[in-house]
Amino acid sequence: MATIIASHQHWEAKAGLLESIYSIRLGHCGTIYRWKSKCTIAFNVDRRSFSDDSYATYAIECLEAAAHLWNEGDVGVQFERVADHERATFRLVYEHQHGATIAKAFPPNAVAYGQPRLIVFPASIGQTGYCDNLVGVFCHELGHVLGLRHEHKEDAPSVLWGEANPLSVMNYFNDPKQFKIDDNDLKEVRDFYAYRGTHWMGLSIVDVDFVDFDPPSY
Ligand SMILES: [Zn+2]
Repeated sequence: MATIIASHQHWEAKAGLLESIYSIRLGHCGTIYRWKSKCTIAFNVDRRSFSDDSYATYAIECLEAAAHLWNEGDVGVQFERVADHERATFRLVYEHQHGATIAKAFPPNAVAYGQPRLIVFPASIGQTGYCDNLVGVFCHELGHVLGLRHEHKEDAPSVLWGEANPLSVMNYFNDPKQFKIDDNDLKEVRDFYAYRGTHWMGLSIVDVDFVDFDPPSY
């Protein structure tokens, strides 16, 4: 559990931070986790966590749009929004934690520790530009949900899949408008999910079964 939480600290989209040059990076703590091929990852929304209902509506629309963009790419896994009272693999929540972090996601193996959450923070509203491209931010976060990482020197070892691509949605960008799924992202994730080997560059690949969790009872 501690490892998962520690790793989460790096899956943040931060304003004004330009780094990372690689397209697709894989691996968490020596293992590459991805979802079982052809599965559908359901998500719902903890609407009560949002202090502003109109922002909740906006965030939901943006997440649905981001999910649609990944789905259109036919990468091997689909995202689907379900009603809030239905079972889902993960939840979209809003957290009142102030700071530079805009959003946080999770890797596939997080389902072993309970229902994962895709979190948006106040900075997603307050920082100029990010609110306007929340779809792009969610595309990046759903990339993490698919098992992708960005280059980060503090992270555990990771390996590169495919060619270096400065336009990848998994980079950090100074301009929030630049967060968008590149055609090459789709191709590489498709290839990654279609790959049937058990290892890649020395790391073992584990296919994670999706888990649909009961909605919380209020
Ligand atoms: Zn990230």
